[in-house]
Amino acid sequence: MDTNIAKLKRAIAREIEDDLPQLQELSLKIHDNPELGLHEFKACEWLTEYLASRNFVIEREICEMPTAFRATYGRGKPCIGLLAEYDALPGVGHACGHNLICTIAIGAAMAAKAAVDRLGGSVVVIGTPAEENYGGKIVMARKGAFSDLDAAILVHPGSADTAVEPAIACQQMNIEFFGKAAHASANPASGINALDAMLLSFNNINALRQQIQSTARIHGIITDGGQAANIIPEHSAGEFYVRAADEAYLDELLQKVLNCFIGASLATGTRLEYKPDVLRYAGLNANMILAQLYVNNMKIIGRDVKFLESMVPLHAGSTDMGNVSQVTAAIHPLLAVAPKGISLHTAEFAAAAASEKGMKGLSDAAKAVAMTVADLLSDAETMQKVRAEFEQGKLQEKK
Ligand SMILES: [Zn+2]
Ligand SMILES: [Zn+2]
Repeated sequence: MDTNIAKLKRAIAREIEDDLPQLQELSLKIHDNPELGLHEFKACEWLTEYLASRNFVIEREICEMPTAFRATYGRGKPCIGLLAEYDALPGVGHACGHNLICTIAIGAAMAAKAAVDRLGGSVVVIGTPAEENYGGKIVMARKGAFSDLDAAILVHPGSADTAVEPAIACQQMNIEFFGKAAHASANPASGINALDAMLLSFNNINALRQQIQSTARIHGIITDGGQAANIIPEHSAGEFYVRAADEAYLDELLQKVLNCFIGASLATGTRLEYKPDVLRYAGLNANMILAQLYVNNMKIIGRDVKFLESMVPLHAGSTDMGNVSQVTAAIHPLLAVAPKGISLHTAEFAAAAASEKGMKGLSDAAKAVAMTVADLLSDAETMQKVRAEFEQGKLQEKK
């Protein structure tokens, strides 16, 4: 490695070490104050406060979202985006560890200032609200929030260190059935049972499930199943997620699932209402060159990161980072902060996100991300390769 870049990376690591007490304190404060998506006012305030105090230029409420922000240091290209999530989950708080995601991003950005000062270009933190319940980045991507980025990086906590982790496409379906109320004992024949339509839908979907690709998922809940046991339910409602490894199969599957609801509606004489949800989580198109840089930098710190667990998304979730990866070169590595077998979205994982291992992960990932920014700013050829891989991927998708 070039001695200058090696020196710069050592300086970056020292910057993170120096700021670590503040970063950890902020991460724990956000963990202690979990806020649901689109209501992350405290986290947004604390993160922008930190960045403003380190001379970043802050733009608030971008994309007409009150808890979205953009913080810029430097100017011009290359422009590297470090994406922050800071929303929590109902009931279990920071059980997805987003308190770590956002502090990794701001810590890395702060340390990457040294690279910007020496090499030019810019580093931008983009605060992206509501990953869990809304898909903030889907809206932000549509509004062009990531269009000027040459690369985007977000490190997500997990139970393994992996640079490339598949995430699959996902679309929500909100379903309602309308029937007719009647006394369930005195006059059931005059009723039309909307709950039965919902139950039949579940049975239809369960029958469909055997014939779907092994990487696809269909799961749902009933959000309205009637008012009282002695009234034939006149209304039922449910929320379903349909997921698939690629968008074409997702479209096919959505139609099949819709047929399950249509069949149930015919069988029961209810009226089906389905408004196609406009937000769709795209699959993640990870940039392999960017991922390799991250792995190399983690190695410098002394952390062994597996490049790839498997390209077959057998245990994949979905993330709105997928939509970012459709508009710029992106990676979404997983960072081990919990023991193997501990699942995201559980109380155990929430504890891990505030643990010593979590805090060590914050320090390591912030260093590796800032060093990756230094690689991209210092080496035009590598930056060009990252872009070429992204453009190539877009071309292949069009074919
Ligand atoms: Zn989550
Ligand atoms: Zn998450």
